[in-house]
Amino acid sequence: MVDSEVLSGQLIANEIDVVHENKKSDHNIVVVNTCGFIEKAKEESINTILDQVELKKRGKLDKVYVTGCLSERYKQNLEAEIPEVDAFFGTMELPMILKQFEADYKTELIGERLLATPQHYAYLKISEGCNRTCAFCAIPLMRGQHVSKPLDELVKEAEGLVKKGVKEIMLIAQELTYYGLDIYKKRMLPDLLRRLSDVKGLEWIRLHYAYPSKFPMDILDAIVERDNICNYLDMPLQHAANNMLAAMKRQITREEMEDLTAAIRQKVPGICLRTTLIAGFPGETQDDVEELKEFLVKQRFDRVGIFTYSHEEGTSGFALTDDVPEEEKERRAQEIMEVQQEISLELNQEKIGKTFKTLIDKKEAGRYLGRTEFDSVEVDNEVVIHSKKKLPIGEFVNVKITKAYDYDLEGEVVD
Ligand code: SF4
Repeated sequence: MVDSEVLSGQLIANEIDVVHENKKSDHNIVVVNTCGFIEKAKEESINTILDQVELKKRGKLDKVYVTGCLSERYKQNLEAEIPEVDAFFGTMELPMILKQFEADYKTELIGERLLATPQHYAYLKISEGCNRTCAFCAIPLMRGQHVSKPLDELVKEAEGLVKKGVKEIMLIAQELTYYGLDIYKKRMLPDLLRRLSDVKGLEWIRLHYAYPSKFPMDILDAIVERDNICNYLDMPLQHAANNMLAAMKRQITREEMEDLTAAIRQKVPGICLRTTLIAGFPGETQDDVEELKEFLVKQRFDRVGIFTYSHEEGTSGFALTDDVPEEEKERRAQEIMEVQQEISLELNQEKIGKTFKTLIDKKEAGRYLGRTEFDSVEVDNEVVIHSKKKLPIGEFVNVKITKAYDYDLEGEVVD
């Protein structure tokens, strides 16, 4: 999304009209920005390309360009398989896409982009690529080694976002905790957090995708110190059984992860911990699934997401036998999520009667939908608010929780 926003920003600066996912269908050129890290994402990308190619064949489009991860990874195959596409570009070829539009790459536009999100929140990509070697992960193949963006540039970008009305930024990177090691030779996420926290008008800063091994605890000092850094941490753990963690090359054991989450919770009481898991990695047995479920019961994570394992060529996991059938992977994922569903409901029920500062995201079917500091966009809980009074989208209100569901809350506005 951020890459699309940057491309759109560059095109607009070159006086070319750009719309994200134009609903009016009055455009003549389409750029499909693809994902390619797991099978489901690849299928979705290919279907989207084929839909656009079909429109081109029917004379509704002049050109179709394809960029992003799928294109980076499978350019030659795609060129041969879908010759109707006018050109394919890799993840680092933004200036070459612009050339197709006879547009210049404007370096002075650093951080300028056409937001695809509502005006009140935005993603801030603090680095690109990853130096880790997780056995299942194809991301480093497509995004390369870790490259941090300079700290001053990110602060400038955040200031620019606030000027546009952004109140919440979600810090993203393939691996957040590595920030700074390449360009400053030390981990700089705490420094970056404090500088961003000083940006006037920025009300919520949220952290996504922290790698657990050698987690730098001083990140938590910044979270405790600053009110506008959300008590929220997204830390993908992938599994809990030590044999699986070793096979996945995660450089951490279950015991170390347990110590880490305990230390994080002790340092930041009430922090919302989100994690993501993988079901069906090669060699996974039902015993491993049982261990993962027991780990979840013990850990009581606030938020959990799960992927089924995707056997990706070029990763070290590809040398293993993909021995868990697809259906079984799905069944395991569901079984694991059923455990979490109960935990999530219990945690949500504990919120009844409490009041939370809530950001109003949108109005849908006559009700307002918002989020607390413990909920990120799209992946986490929503707060459903019934209000006869008009509520301002993109503003904060205090909401008293009246009802709890598995993954959502319901409440009313209080003064
Ligand atoms: S840390 Fe994340 S992006 Fe990096 S290799 Fe592991 S799973 Fe992939």
